[in-house]
Amino acid sequence: MSVLIKNGTIITAVDEYKADIYIEGERISAIGENLSMKAEKVIDAAGKFVLPGGVDQHVHYSFDYKGEKVRGFETTNAAIAGGTTTVIEFVNQEPGKGIAETIEEYDRIEAAPQAMADYSFHGVICDPSDKVFEEIKSLPDKGISTVKLFMAYKGLPFHSNDESIFKALKASKDAGVTVMVHAENADVIDVLQNECLGKGQTEPYYHAVSRPVTAEVEATQRAIHLASLAGAPIYIVHVTARKVMESIREAYNGGIGVYAETCTQYLVLDKEDLAKPNFEGAKYVCSPPLRTKEDQEVLWEAVDKGWLNAVSSDHCGFNWKEQKHMGINDFTNIPNGCPGVQDRLAILWTYGVEKGRISRQKLVDLFATTPAKVNGLDHRKGHIGIGLDADIVIYDPDHTSTISNETSLHGVDFNIYEGFQQIGKIDQVLLRGNMVLKDGKYVGKQGQGRFIPGMPFGLCYGDKK
Ligand SMILES: [Zn+2]
Repeated sequence: MSVLIKNGTIITAVDEYKADIYIEGERISAIGENLSMKAEKVIDAAGKFVLPGGVDQHVHYSFDYKGEKVRGFETTNAAIAGGTTTVIEFVNQEPGKGIAETIEEYDRIEAAPQAMADYSFHGVICDPSDKVFEEIKSLPDKGISTVKLFMAYKGLPFHSNDESIFKALKASKDAGVTVMVHAENADVIDVLQNECLGKGQTEPYYHAVSRPVTAEVEATQRAIHLASLAGAPIYIVHVTARKVMESIREAYNGGIGVYAETCTQYLVLDKEDLAKPNFEGAKYVCSPPLRTKEDQEVLWEAVDKGWLNAVSSDHCGFNWKEQKHMGINDFTNIPNGCPGVQDRLAILWTYGVEKGRISRQKLVDLFATTPAKVNGLDHRKGHIGIGLDADIVIYDPDHTSTISNETSLHGVDFNIYEGFQQIGKIDQVLLRGNMVLKDGKYVGKQGQGRFIPGMPFGLCYGDKK
């Protein structure tokens, strides 16, 4: 199959120019003005922007919170509808099994048969034996270049102590595996949660009260110190607040290899959403919690200046009616996490680009290019360039609509961005040259998404091919 995209304006992380794109098979084979190749399919992108498909490095399709399971890979068409052509899933290591073994099984049974977007994996360390730390060294051979540890969630199977994090950092650095951490102080939160419950403070709002910014700051700084002691880089996921970002910026400026993302919801929502009546607030329960409007502005500046280098969705598809209601009498039983994989581009465009907070190039950088690099996928993903996968989003900027759960494909009964304005719309999406979204409608099929191996850090671009 050959495709010629004519007359569009290409946006990359570094530039913007009018050119045609010629795709042969699954890859981009030529970019230039007035390309005249014969193609089986011609797309006229006049008046539209042409972006690389998004890479969402933080999604949960297998997460389990106190026995409640999220919607899985059967809903990855929501990623495509949101212009995200690659998702990176956190797979919790099963006790007694290796990281790679758990991931291979999950891939075979869940991901490969159902995926509608391309995908890669982070291994989440849950069973921290010496065998597992030894295993980290061979993970890149299996296309896994990242592991994650949770400093939060005391008492849940995926919680890790400092010993585990330090050992993981030491094992990962020579293998080129990036360690990611969810940084919140689990012990402090446990005490504060019990204090709230003891006072009868059971509503969703107390989720935010019991997880103060300082608990995130403390864990972030501790993680940075552990990384520094191990001589390894570290990646902090979902940064929510000014003081956390400042800790990271200061360490980075001091020469430590610390990198971090924020997530869409922290840019446009705040903790007052948790106070919505009739248990509506439960919809917004994610960890760390939503913060303040002032933090939102700080985070926008931070992503613009590069102090935080990616915006992920932290997509987590729990239903409100059956699942979030588990915590109707106790906020600690509300499954943590919000859906959002479909709305990341719309929010970044509408509230970032259109409000003058970030440029279109910066949007592409945060949405696709840097997440591809962080996870060793930039040999194929995150950029419009010759030889790379033809993952393309055609964006029509002359359109205004409202985000609604009625048009969300995530299989969940609510949308945290319900009623938000959306400027522009995603017209078409190509996944490795295949049309998977046409005129805004999903037209791909289950099982079309492929596993993309993540390369270890420390290799130069040419080595990755
Ligand atoms: Zn997450």
